[in-house]
Amino acid sequence: QVRVRFAPSPTGPLHIGGVRTALFNYLFAKKNDGIFFLRVEDTDQNRFVPGAEAYIMEALEWLGIAPDETVGKNEKFGPYRQSERKPLYKQYADQLIASGWAYYAFDTAEALDKHRKEHEEQGKTFIYNHHNREKLDTSLVLSQEETAKRIASGEEYVIRFKTPVDETLHLKDIIRGDIKFETNLLDDKVLFKSDGMPTYHLANIVDDHLMETSHVIRGEEWLPSMPLHVLLYRAFNWEAPEFAHLPLILKPIGNGKLSKRDGDKMGFPVFPLEWKTEEGVSSGYRENGFFPEAVVNFLALLGWNDGTEQELFSLEELIRKFDLNRVNKAGAKFDPEKNKWFNHQYLVKKDDAFLAALFLPIVQSKGIETNLGYATKVVASVKERAHFVNELWDLSDYFFTAPASYDEKAAKNWKEETPELMKQLISVLENIQDFTSVTIETTVKEWLTANEIGMGKVMQPFRLSLVGKMMGPHLFDIVEMLGKEETTRRIQKAID
Ligand code: GLU
Repeated sequence: QVRVRFAPSPTGPLHIGGVRTALFNYLFAKKNDGIFFLRVEDTDQNRFVPGAEAYIMEALEWLGIAPDETVGKNEKFGPYRQSERKPLYKQYADQLIASGWAYYAFDTAEALDKHRKEHEEQGKTFIYNHHNREKLDTSLVLSQEETAKRIASGEEYVIRFKTPVDETLHLKDIIRGDIKFETNLLDDKVLFKSDGMPTYHLANIVDDHLMETSHVIRGEEWLPSMPLHVLLYRAFNWEAPEFAHLPLILKPIGNGKLSKRDGDKMGFPVFPLEWKTEEGVSSGYRENGFFPEAVVNFLALLGWNDGTEQELFSLEELIRKFDLNRVNKAGAKFDPEKNKWFNHQYLVKKDDAFLAALFLPIVQSKGIETNLGYATKVVASVKERAHFVNELWDLSDYFFTAPASYDEKAAKNWKEETPELMKQLISVLENIQDFTSVTIETTVKEWLTANEIGMGKVMQPFRLSLVGKMMGPHLFDIVEMLGKEETTRRIQKAID
């Protein structure tokens, strides 16, 4: 069975890259009738941030990609928080010591510094591995008794992995294909510390095994850890999962990796939800009026496509079409404008009444009394121009309130003869019984033709009187919506 995991460390809000990793895991699981689970990797107490775990859960819920198993939910292989699994890891570290795949190391920070300096002086870099093993303070050079004595006396130690020497590893990544790696380049990574805590590497491999992970799908920044992870599976005699390392997400301009701070620089969120700290607020997609489906859609295309030009996919469609073999190796550029475009696409597809219900409180906050029926019609006539619900007010304020001022440039079309023409227009309008867009348009145009008045002479000041600027939907639709009384009142106001 396919079982994939998202394994965030709760060190802060989930940024766009993390969300994309979660999404690709989710899609892969659903596509294969598998399980998507979330494990909280919180063994590094120094980096723990309160609220981060709850934030991550809430973000995935909001996006509609919540895990099938996690803390407090279907805990088949629980607990799902590594800090609560702490007693479990020591035996695995011991197992590797017993089988000769790991060893104790007592080197102090000062001793390691000294080694580094000595190497530097000779123009070499110090790698903690077989190159130096005989000079280091480890159980590889100490007798068993001596090692046991030092541990018993409470001396601080770490347990390190004993990387095999002179071996070429042939690794396989679903996205990157075959990768060769020389074990001599690896250092003997710390697996366990005397404070009883495993490092990321040990905990991650033990848990992926115990939780029956079939595929590890994660960001490219973890690719350098893959050789060690594969060796750890070998050391334990466990079958390794398959690996897929997702491409980086790049800044919109230049080639660097998109960072958490880029959001503020661009004035564009890179977090799903708002995140507040004492230092300030990082804005979120939700609070900025993005629809979760739109966010899911554009994230899916950061590094993946279905091989066609299609860009709009529902979640169901993504699940059906998702394929790890179609994920790119090259970094994916993050494009804020494109993201807005996606939101626009979802906004115009939404039901007008649904949008109006979101818009109504905004209108009411301006001190305007209106109703859902009217707001629905307004939304229908302007939504083509909006990316977000919160843009609707600026696009449609004139439907609710007479213009307080007139656009200067457009006001140049207000000529000497205009007041007289506008007066005639008022009486034409007043005589219309069936006050609907089509009838009004026909009547006004008949009047213009009969009196040989140029269209522009009337239409431009007419729109200016109602809207205050030269924009908005079809003029006669606006007239119908405003109604006879409000329309003539606004023309009169413009004349005065
Ligand atoms: N805890 C790691 C992280 O924060 C997990 C990496 C992995 O998926 O192996 O990304």
